[in-house]
Amino acid sequence: METWSPPREKQSSQDSTTGAIGHRNNTQILLDELQKKFVNHRNNLWVNDHLQLKNPQTNETLPNFYAAGDLAELPVIKSAGWANFMGTLASTNVISSLFEDKLVQSLPQDLLSKNHMIVIAGDEDVISEINGEVVLNLPYYVDQYKSYCMEKVLSIYT
Ligand SMILES: Cc1cc2nc3c(=O)[nH]c(=O)nc-3n(C[C@H](O)[C@H](O)[C@H](O)COP(=O)(O)OP(=O)(O)OC[C@H]3O[C@@H](n4cnc5c(N)ncnc54)[C@H](O)[C@@H]3O)c2cc1C
Repeated sequence: METWSPPREKQSSQDSTTGAIGHRNNTQILLDELQKKFVNHRNNLWVNDHLQLKNPQTNETLPNFYAAGDLAELPVIKSAGWANFMGTLASTNVISSLFEDKLVQSLPQDLLSKNHMIVIAGDEDVISEINGEVVLNLPYYVDQYKSYCMEKVLSIYT
């Protein structure tokens, strides 16, 4: 697999590097019944295409409960990019269900099925990975990222 390195002008040097990785979803705040039904063995919440809680085994769905970001069980590498994307999708559906009594956005299955990764790095750059190829500021993802902003969502409904 090819690896990506930042251009020389964006590289920095350091005397030491500390790794600070690790994350645990705080699912304990949920009622026991919800934990039992919707938290899986990876400590993630099962969701449907609209990001509503849904147990895939029993098909039980809680239409007024949404999960987004690291909490949601999706076949993607967890990143701020996906968290941003899911937050916008879930909030769009919350607003449309309140004002129009329908859900207007679903997860993009074509993206999910190919195990894409969207990583946002820094204030300006979008690093993405598609099937092993890492690209800096792919125009498609830069446009997508710009459109995630809440102003766009709210302008539709206000
Ligand atoms: C070391 C590290 C480096 C990373 N680097 C990158 C990167 O370069 N690019 C990238 O795209 N992604 C990166 N990620 C992943 C990215 O940080 C996460 O995917 C993203 O933050 C998920 O967003 P989230 O909103 O779902 O969860 P979080 O950002 O974890 O937000 C959850 C928030 O809920 C709060 N919370 C928890 N329980 C409660 C409660 N009971 N009441 C109130 N608040 C509560 C937490 O304190 C937290 O602030 C990195 C992750 C780590 C750990």
